[in-house]
Amino acid sequence: MRASDLLKPRPEGLYCPPGDFFIDPVRPVERALITHGHSDHARSGHRSVLATQETLDIMGLRYGEDFAGTTQAAVHGETLDMNGVAVTFHPAGHVLGSAQICVEHRGMRIVASGDYKRQKDATCLPFEPIRCDVFITEATFGLPVFRHPPDHEEIARVLKSAAQFPERSHLIGAYALGKAQRVMRLLRDAGYDKPIYIHGALAKLSEYYQS
Ligand SMILES: [Zn+2]
Repeated sequence: MRASDLLKPRPEGLYCPPGDFFIDPVRPVERALITHGHSDHARSGHRSVLATQETLDIMGLRYGEDFAGTTQAAVHGETLDMNGVAVTFHPAGHVLGSAQICVEHRGMRIVASGDYKRQKDATCLPFEPIRCDVFITEATFGLPVFRHPPDHEEIARVLKSAAQFPERSHLIGAYALGKAQRVMRLLRDAGYDKPIYIHGALAKLSEYYQS
């Protein structure tokens, strides 16, 4: 079996013909498997959605409880049969609830990573490498020009500046799902125990992380 017989791009998104489902479709479809809650992967309006419980909860918070016709929670490491195609979710280390989706059929195994990161992040389960024939990855920061310094060094820089300029506000821009909570957790892990003020747009998801 060729890889493109198992997963192929369609206008709606990545489609699995034998399993008859899409992974992270951008248009409403009958059956969607969702890797994580970021809006470029998780959209509302699908007939049925299979995702981790956390991703389903996050979609509910963002789009309202009626974001899909029906939902099913996927458990990491548990294989589901979808029209003869074996589907397994594995942690992606990206944001709370994020998963790679492993699709296997007639000896061909493809892992669609969604987004993932290999660095340690206390706010989500760590990335799990999965042996596979084809690995599908986005590469937003794949160019060698991107060299992200270690997170604790960046946090140390902020805290040093805060200590140096206590009369100044220190404003950190961070995406509402994942990045903001990671920054707050890193600040706390570094010993910063003063109040952190957040934009209202971060409140719902931050409360969900806490819960
Ligand atoms: Zn993402």
